[in-house]
Amino acid sequence: MDPLDRSTIWPHEQGEVRDFYYQRFGSPTVAAAEAALGELDGGTALLFPSGAGATTALVLSLLEPGNTIALARGGYYGTGVAFAALESWGLSIAEFDQTGPPPEDVQLVWLEAPTNPYLTMPDLAAAAAHPAPVVVDATVATPVHLRPLEHGADFVLHSATKYLAGHDDALLGAVVCRADTAAEELRTLRSSTGIVAAPDPAWLMLRGLKTLELRVRRQTETAGFLAGRLRAHPAVETVRYPGLGGLLSFDVADAETARKIETSTRVIVNASSLGGVTSLIESRSRWEGDRVPPGLLRLSAGLEDRETLWADLKQALG
Ligand code: PLP
Repeated sequence: MDPLDRSTIWPHEQGEVRDFYYQRFGSPTVAAAEAALGELDGGTALLFPSGAGATTALVLSLLEPGNTIALARGGYYGTGVAFAALESWGLSIAEFDQTGPPPEDVQLVWLEAPTNPYLTMPDLAAAAAHPAPVVVDATVATPVHLRPLEHGADFVLHSATKYLAGHDDALLGAVVCRADTAAEELRTLRSSTGIVAAPDPAWLMLRGLKTLELRVRRQTETAGFLAGRLRAHPAVETVRYPGLGGLLSFDVADAETARKIETSTRVIVNASSLGGVTSLIESRSRWEGDRVPPGLLRLSAGLEDRETLWADLKQALG
């Protein structure tokens, strides 16, 4: 088993500083979790206290005032919120349709594979041809379905809170870098600004990674099954499911119907996350307003029996 080391200090040896000396500069449990994720994604992984923290650290490391980020439209709402918080520090955002090429004259391209909650997939080849560094938020796909560094991306972003840790009990983020130089710059920024992951969530991710493939394959099968059933249901208007991972979204007539459904499920929990062992459902307009259709429901498939999940959804759909 992997040991969990919560120390903040490791004594010098005969006056010499060893690999680990003060937790903000690195710790053994976080380093072990980073090594495991780096192997899965084929790059150098660095952990951060949350996915949003990883996003902020990466942007601070790569950009300077006056720069513009091309941001995939329809992606995770909170990423746009994090970037908006950085606008007063001189960054701008240009939203674009990630199924085509990114706009010219931007200094960073930010994609999501697939987007939460619209479930579009990026044109990775078009993005890789752009001169700016390319980040792919692959939180939903996970390395089980997609290893963006093999498709020309420079960085992979994960909210490890979701599938990687996988049990709704750890807040954590990760950046996986293709180039060692970029990883070193990000590591230096992380140590100096203190946007550092703690050992406990890192240990939970290490444990989660041992079952990642099993969980994600089952969640993907279940999501595909539920998407098929939902498509055939008369109360459901649109189903979005690209076949990658355990996340799908679907539309019902209006916000009131969506609210009735999210409050009527008994097995599927009405909560705001995704990627854990428990199936979750949530109407997204409460957070995202007009950015999503009023009747949009996001569904994250867990590990429960799929027929039980469908029976639960069916009774909630009325
Ligand atoms: N990226 C995606 C696709 C997400 O869904 C989320 C959270 O929902 C994040 C990033 C942010 O991660 P965290 O909540 O760990 O800060």
